[in-house]
Amino acid sequence: MKTHEFDVVVLGSGFAGSLTAMILQQIGQRVALIDKTRHPRFAIGESSTPIANMVLRDLAIRYDLPRLLPLTKYGSWQDTYPHLGCGLKRGFSYFAHEADRTFAPSPTHANELLVAASSCDHDSDTQWLRADVDRFLYREAATIGVTVLEDCAVGKIRHDGVGDWSIDCQFEAQRNTLRASFVIDATGEAGVLPRSLGIASAYDQCLTRSRAIFSHFRDVHSWHEQFEQLGGNTQDHPFPCDNAAQHHILDGTWLWVLRFNNGLTSAGLVLDEAAHPLDDSLDAATEWKRWLDRYPSVAAMFANANLASVPGKMLRTQRLQRRWSRSSGEDWALLPHTAGFVDPLHSTGVAHSLCGVERLARILDQHAAGEPRTLALRNYDFIIGQELALIDELVSTCFATFHQFDLLILASMLYFAAVTTYERERFGGESSLAFLCADQLEIRELLHSARQLIADNASVPEQAAIDLVRGKIASLIAPINHVGLLDPTVANMYRHTAPTM
Ligand SMILES: Cc1cc2nc3c(=O)[nH]c(=O)nc-3n(C[C@H](O)[C@H](O)[C@H](O)COP(=O)(O)OP(=O)(O)OC[C@H]3O[C@@H](n4cnc5c(N)ncnc54)[C@H](O)[C@@H]3O)c2cc1C
Repeated sequence: MKTHEFDVVVLGSGFAGSLTAMILQQIGQRVALIDKTRHPRFAIGESSTPIANMVLRDLAIRYDLPRLLPLTKYGSWQDTYPHLGCGLKRGFSYFAHEADRTFAPSPTHANELLVAASSCDHDSDTQWLRADVDRFLYREAATIGVTVLEDCAVGKIRHDGVGDWSIDCQFEAQRNTLRASFVIDATGEAGVLPRSLGIASAYDQCLTRSRAIFSHFRDVHSWHEQFEQLGGNTQDHPFPCDNAAQHHILDGTWLWVLRFNNGLTSAGLVLDEAAHPLDDSLDAATEWKRWLDRYPSVAAMFANANLASVPGKMLRTQRLQRRWSRSSGEDWALLPHTAGFVDPLHSTGVAHSLCGVERLARILDQHAAGEPRTLALRNYDFIIGQELALIDELVSTCFATFHQFDLLILASMLYFAAVTTYERERFGGESSLAFLCADQLEIRELLHSARQLIADNASVPEQAAIDLVRGKIASLIAPINHVGLLDPTVANMYRHTAPTM
């Protein structure tokens, strides 16, 4: 048994764990980064957003990590790292399908919503092929001096007092003990540290109830082309609708489609668990096929598609929502995706994770162990709780409106109002605001009133009632509507919402 001394041990080398390890190394800490798997490995959660890019840029500049800067825009990524799998993401697109009917584009775009984030391909957001991106960051961490251990199973974790951690791990047939004064858990769903500390789960607080079936595919047909063949008017589209986080709205379910520029496509169904509970007698591939069979235009997209060699099968989850009742202590912290998760709708995960990395890095950079750091970590716990609660509120409101696309558009506008307000707040520099302004009481109250209005009218599908709700919501969100959301003249086609970095 060998003992190794560190200041910080980071458990989990997804992009968030590796980035955190790199930052701490840059501020002079001795850091170990452990993962139970070996890179490259399959990972889901791939769609970045303007916030993700702003935070990554700010971290790269602040902590002198210039090799990360090209990853913050599609153009510089392609110029610098063309070998890293990436997709062009100009924004978000949403299409409402009817069961057993071919998608019928409407001349007024009534069953479409396109929200552009960036105005040109070069400056646009990206879909991250996580196997490539995570391996890149892991190697970067090793290059700058982080001690990296992969294929390393974490064993017993002992906490013998504040600042006194011992983590047993098996590496190359050798038993090791890593000693550290601070531990960060970036293991996501595995939640290694909260399980070891006996932290209670708080998942029952989550309003959203969803589960997912997903994989990577080859030869997925272009939705943009299909949409045009069906008579759709793409002239009005602010961007080719394939270059987006595509959301196809089905019955109590949505389908994501994210295209990479190496022929791979990430696609998955996210199902309302109450409406479509998991049926173990049906395997994931059969369940996936049954959904495609109900939606001819979705089926056409996948008509010639094959599963990619990695992961090589359909993956299916239980309920996606999870949350721990605490996300930090005096000498430990959970990154956001370990602290909890809601749902992939609107792609909040990567951006939220990066905001958490930024917040935690700032705390550890500014405070040595002691009272001020303890207080700052308590605030970290509070903020993550607020952020997860707000994401949950916004997403669950959308799920409640899947049956009526006009209402779903209204519900989605609440997310876009919050996210674009946050983008503006932090544009041009770092911000101490919580992700989506989740710590701003007035914004939370205003969003709460708007959600209530939608909930009160969710079962009233008459157009006149929806028009009334739209007007009221437009007034409610006016103080945080900086980008013309709900402007009736744009016909669901939002050309530009994010500030150019
Ligand atoms: C179905 C689904 C779809 C999603 N889609 C999107 C999206 O489109 N856009 C978006 O922004 N976000 C999305 N997300 C969220 C996104 O996946 C997360 O935000 C992101 O993965 C967080 O990265 P991470 O590095 O914190 O954790 P992870 O990516 O979960 O990495 C955890 C790491 O910990 C390692 N690990 C696990 N157990 C152990 C152990 N015992 N010891 C050591 N290491 C361990 C794993 O091997 C892994 O490398 C999605 C999530 C899900 C579940």
